[in-house]
Amino acid sequence: MKSGGTADLFCYPTDIQELRAVLAFARARSIPVTVLGGMSNTLISDEGIEGLTIGTVKLNEIKKRGNLLSVLAGAQLEETINVAIEEGLGGLEHFYGIPGTIGGALWGNAGAHDHQISETVLFADFLDLHGNLFRKQIIQSEFSYRMSPYKGRSDLILYEVHLALNPISDTHTLKTIALGYKQRRIEQQQFRHPSLGSIFKNPPGHKAGALLEGLGLKGTR
Ligand SMILES: Cc1cc2nc3c(=O)[nH]c(=O)nc-3n(C[C@H](O)[C@H](O)[C@H](O)COP(=O)(O)OP(=O)(O)OC[C@H]3O[C@@H](n4cnc5c(N)ncnc54)[C@H](O)[C@@H]3O)c2cc1C
Repeated sequence: MKSGGTADLFCYPTDIQELRAVLAFARARSIPVTVLGGMSNTLISDEGIEGLTIGTVKLNEIKKRGNLLSVLAGAQLEETINVAIEEGLGGLEHFYGIPGTIGGALWGNAGAHDHQISETVLFADFLDLHGNLFRKQIIQSEFSYRMSPYKGRSDLILYEVHLALNPISDTHTLKTIALGYKQRRIEQQQFRHPSLGSIFKNPPGHKAGALLEGLGLKGTR
């Protein structure tokens, strides 16, 4: 966003051992821990970030096992979709072009075109601040529009997301569909200037943008 203060300490762990080591470092000094993915939905305070900030983007391995795609939390959502399609797995294409990581996407239950990321996730692995790894089944009723059960939980780090996808044979057509979704974003949203995406939530059955335009409020300051 090109705004906000600095973090006291910032690190990019590359595997679970490094992640556990930085958590132990913070615990030993009783300093707070903040986790950030692609930072596409985070406005940093001018006061900066106290304690240790962990950037996840170097935790980015993607593995396929049958119809399951297991993705470390820091993998970019777009790269995840590229790999899924190349591996003959569909179900993520609506999200093509949403910036940020798969971890950030599940954290905020990112969505587009009447689909939300939680629909595609079977289970997810977390670390607590002591470095203990545990697995949680995704319960769809715990997710809603841009809401997940993890929001507000500063004691959890999402480590790996396991996506249950649909086998497809025509990867070329699926890639064309995904690129179409991205092209619409490029035409309708602005990517040239720093932005956090949408400010307004869509009320049920409506699009916030269309309501604002209908009222002649587009561009009003
Ligand atoms: C131009 C633009 C268009 C956008 N379009 C859409 C859209 O169509 N639909 C939509 O839903 N969103 C959209 N967004 C918002 C944003 O891209 C998504 O919310 C995205 O999923 C955030 O991911 P991130 O990795 O950037 O998260 P960050 O901004 O890095 O983090 C967001 C929150 O998640 C937490 N978090 C991230 N990773 C982890 C982790 N591994 N463990 C624990 N906590 C974690 C952070 O602490 C923070 O609270 C858009 C944003 C922009 C700039």
